Amino acid sequence: TSHPSTTLGNAPINRKPTTRTATGPNEGGGPFGHENMGEVIEVGSGVEKVRVGDRVVLPFNISCGFCKNCERGLTNYCLTTQPDPSTAGAAYGFADMGPYGGGQAELLRVPFCDHNALRLGEDAEEKENDYVMLSDIFPTGYHATEMAGVIPGDSVVIAGAGPVGLMAALSAMIKGAAKGGFNSSSQHRGRGGGYQRWEHDRWRPSVEHLPRPSVEFVLDRS
Ligand SMILES: [Zn+2]
Repeated sequence: TSHPSTTLGNAPINRKPTTRTATGPNEGGGPFGHENMGEVIEVGSGVEKVRVGDRVVLPFNISCGFCKNCERGLTNYCLTTQPDPSTAGAAYGFADMGPYGGGQAELLRVPFCDHNALRLGEDAEEKENDYVMLSDIFPTGYHATEMAGVIPGDSVVIAGAGPVGLMAALSAMIKGAAKGGFNSSSQHRGRGGGYQRWEHDRWRPSVEHLPRPSVEFVLDRS
């Protein structure tokens, strides 16, 4: 049997761990940590592309790349990596998403790593604070703008100003949304209540309420 998995050294990225940490489903007390990047320190016999020493970032969903759902691009509903046949989809360190430990540990096992691991270039260490956002928050925020069909000139309101909301705003700006803002009613999410907005790539002072006329898209982080 070949083993299509890889072990990452994690946290901090360049530490060489000397002990293995047992990882398991976090229902059983295993580590959390679904946004992972690190240096590959060991590869299984079934791994062909990823090499020891590569620096990689991982999508938080664990997928096989060859099941019916993965072939349709629905890797968040992978049928192979979720052992419970009544559901689909797996992730690192999540309750009910398979028996996979998270990355808040010295070592992380990465199943099907040729499919899951995004190998980074020579600037991986220098830009690790940017690349780690590729694991979840940036693609999640970007996907919201994809699902909404945001195009240049649109106006957008994002419900929730947490990290995913911020990345949705950045994605909307990248796509040329002319106007947008956050409707942040939850004080604990870091940006306070009220409405904060941008116009043509520039942030404007906060206003208390949503502007009129109303906007074309609302991206809700929930
Ligand atoms: Zn799959």
